[in-house]
Amino acid sequence: MLEATEEIKDKFREQAHEMSRPFCYMDYITVPLDEDGNAVCPKCGTDDLMRELEGVGVEYGYDWIMEHIVKEEGTAIDADEMYADLLDECYEPFKMGDLEYSPSQVLKDVDPTAYRIGKQDYLDSLVEDGQLVCLDGTYYQLDL
Ligand SMILES: [Zn+2]
Repeated sequence: MLEATEEIKDKFREQAHEMSRPFCYMDYITVPLDEDGNAVCPKCGTDDLMRELEGVGVEYGYDWIMEHIVKEEGTAIDADEMYADLLDECYEPFKMGDLEYSPSQVLKDVDPTAYRIGKQDYLDSLVEDGQLVCLDGTYYQLDL
């Protein structure tokens, strides 16, 4: 499942429409658009058509094409590292004598639940801001 802002989803859906073509699975043919821009199979007359993405596959709907776009154009990020970097930039290292520990390591070890919840909140906020999208649990950065 794809988690993203409505704006990003709309953009992907539009892109998915443009890069794919109507396809009749019964006759296994690509369906050309008629003069009015409607897609009706010239062989069987159905308008219950799949979408064909050349070299990738045929399937109903746009979701699978949108997911393909995310994987192709997005860069998968290491969410754990991203959150750790944030903590380490925001807070001073924890020092005890000659010993020094990074804030991310301290929180992770001392309160793993708080770390996990904090990380999830942070990632959710980035998805809401449109800076990241999440596909099946993996976070992607996009060049939009
Ligand atoms: Zn047909």
